[in-house]
Amino acid sequence: MATPLRIAVVGAGIVGVSSAEWLRRDGHEVTLIDRIDPGDPKQTSYGNAGLLARTAIVPVSTPGFMRHVPKMLLDKDGPLFLRWSYLPKLLPWLVPFIRNGREDRVREIAGSLDYILGDSVDQHFALARGTSAEKYLTTGDYAYIYKNRDSFAKDAFGFALRKEYGAQWEELDRKQLHDFDPNLNDNSGFAAVLKDHGWLSNPGGYVAALANAFKEGGGRFLKGEVDAISPQETRPNLSINGETRQFDRIVIASGVWSRKMAEQLGHKVPMEAERGYHMVLKNPAFKPAIPYMLAEAKFVLTPMDSGLRCAGLVEFGGIDAPASAAPYGVFERKLRSVYPSLTWDGVEKWMGRRPSTPDSLPMIGESTRAKGIFFAFGAQHIGLTSGPKTGRIIADLIAGRSPNHDLTPFSTDRFDRS
Ligand SMILES: Cc1cc2nc3c(=O)[nH]c(=O)nc-3n(C[C@H](O)[C@H](O)[C@H](O)COP(=O)(O)OP(=O)(O)OC[C@H]3O[C@@H](n4cnc5c(N)ncnc54)[C@H](O)[C@@H]3O)c2cc1C
Repeated sequence: MATPLRIAVVGAGIVGVSSAEWLRRDGHEVTLIDRIDPGDPKQTSYGNAGLLARTAIVPVSTPGFMRHVPKMLLDKDGPLFLRWSYLPKLLPWLVPFIRNGREDRVREIAGSLDYILGDSVDQHFALARGTSAEKYLTTGDYAYIYKNRDSFAKDAFGFALRKEYGAQWEELDRKQLHDFDPNLNDNSGFAAVLKDHGWLSNPGGYVAALANAFKEGGGRFLKGEVDAISPQETRPNLSINGETRQFDRIVIASGVWSRKMAEQLGHKVPMEAERGYHMVLKNPAFKPAIPYMLAEAKFVLTPMDSGLRCAGLVEFGGIDAPASAAPYGVFERKLRSVYPSLTWDGVEKWMGRRPSTPDSLPMIGESTRAKGIFFAFGAQHIGLTSGPKTGRIIADLIAGRSPNHDLTPFSTDRFDRS
């Protein structure tokens, strides 16, 4: 067992709760701090597609990505939205984001993502087994649904890269696909069914249940707003609702809001909110048996306890702008184009903020500027999947155990030099 320390984890989304629980299991005295309850709808961890997307190693920015952007922005049913007034603020993030779409960089990024995603389904089980969170974990296949085989061929680069890292999939032609799911209409004529994935039937419930397990095991949850963080010569401290408290170690796991805290320590963190949406259809007449990625529409359909969740799309407009109406129209029209006979009773609408860096890699490790303060944020589209592994890496680093892997791609100071 590591030497017991007093540790604060700021942020009780999937990354913070996972970090807190692994640290607690190491015997530390852990305080998990958030201004809202774990699993609250204001968390990004609440409203995602619920996928344990262990083969999602291909970043959004890939060779040729920029060619598709104008069409995506102009098409009212496209997957990308931009608040144009936000563009000047977005540019310092957007330019390196596009540069990172070079093939050599994408290959490096995919290798790093594979390290935090490859065993993610097992990592979730290792964390949730024996707790009330376990009931939300489901294992199974995850299907990319295409109009036809030609559309699938356009994704050849990404699938070839996944294959290099061990992904396996079964290809279904139109007849096989329609035998599997007779509710699909002719707009779906091909599927690549990725094997051995997982998903959550209730992501918010899962985070709340993990937090309960943490508390039942002796961890402490403190509801409050962290308004400042500062390194000290001996021990770093936090100001929580105006009151200063010292800890031996602090973990910043505050999703997209981590940027402000990291900047208070003198780091450059060009992180943006890649805003995404969901619409849950209540009491749908039917649900797919496994999650589907509607590959051309670029959103996921996941069967959940609360109904059928459509989740995805990307909007740039900053953290605080209110949700837009247009993405919900895209969900509905695209959904009807594959499932025309689907009916439902009502909907839940939600918008959340993916914490995204320009190189699509999270920041994981000890601050090079503030000893004892650790970063655990920035996992963009895959933070639910990678949360438990991230928590375990943080616990290893704090205990002085070597993760046996080069963590340089995730380093906390990699943007300081640019
Ligand atoms: C539409 C959509 C679909 C997605 N689908 C998937 C998917 O299928 N699979 C996947 O792996 N990922 C998915 N993601 C991404 C994933 O949801 C995120 O990467 C992940 O939830 C980030 O978790 P987090 O713990 O870092 O942040 P959050 O869940 O946002 O938690 C951060 C917490 O920090 C707290 N906080 C912030 N600042 C302070 C402060 N100053 N004081 C106190 N508390 C503070 C906040 O209140 C919040 O509770 C999706 C995202 C979206 C938007």
